[in-house]
Amino acid sequence: MPAEPPLGDVLITPEQLQRRVAELAALIAADYADKKPVLVGILRGSVMFLADLLRALPIPVTIDFLAISSYAGRDSSGVVRLLKDLDQPITGKHVLLVEDIIDTGLTLSYVLRILRARQPASLEVCTLLDKPARRLIEQPLRYVGFSIPDVFVVGYGLDYQQRYRNLPWIAVLRV
Ligand code: IMP
Repeated sequence: MPAEPPLGDVLITPEQLQRRVAELAALIAADYADKKPVLVGILRGSVMFLADLLRALPIPVTIDFLAISSYAGRDSSGVVRLLKDLDQPITGKHVLLVEDIIDTGLTLSYVLRILRARQPASLEVCTLLDKPARRLIEQPLRYVGFSIPDVFVVGYGLDYQQRYRNLPWIAVLRV
């Protein structure tokens, strides 16, 4: 077995995550009160965030998922592949894309292009983490949980080679 990169400091605690999720849910609930939004999660990194956000939303809402190919380690290949499409059509619906982290923005730009082509009534982005230092393509981010420095993070759904998704906090990984 190759050695695991060591887990570094806790960057965001479970309490900070829960507090911010509640704040985001309040903003989303106000903006989408009568819109019955569809939360679209991108598998697999966004599942924990989406589950907590969903439970904190006091408005009618549905969910759907997309799966795309992601990093094979530390760096984005820039090549994104759709592995699983949405189950339901989104034409005419208010879509809120829920992401774990926006890094270069390449993944988001690809996913937004696919979703926009289906002519939703509106399309906005809610990301738990934003890592602006490495951005290659800018996209408007309507809701951002935390802006973080250029470090590789794991936990709360985020992985390194499929590990550490189960941590209830966000930690820095020393890769
Ligand atoms: P982008 O296309 O470079 O914006 O990358 C977005 C995707 O890369 C995210 O959805 C994550 O799957 C992955 N990613 C980017 N940065 C990190 C990180 O620090 N930890 C874990 N995954 C990351």
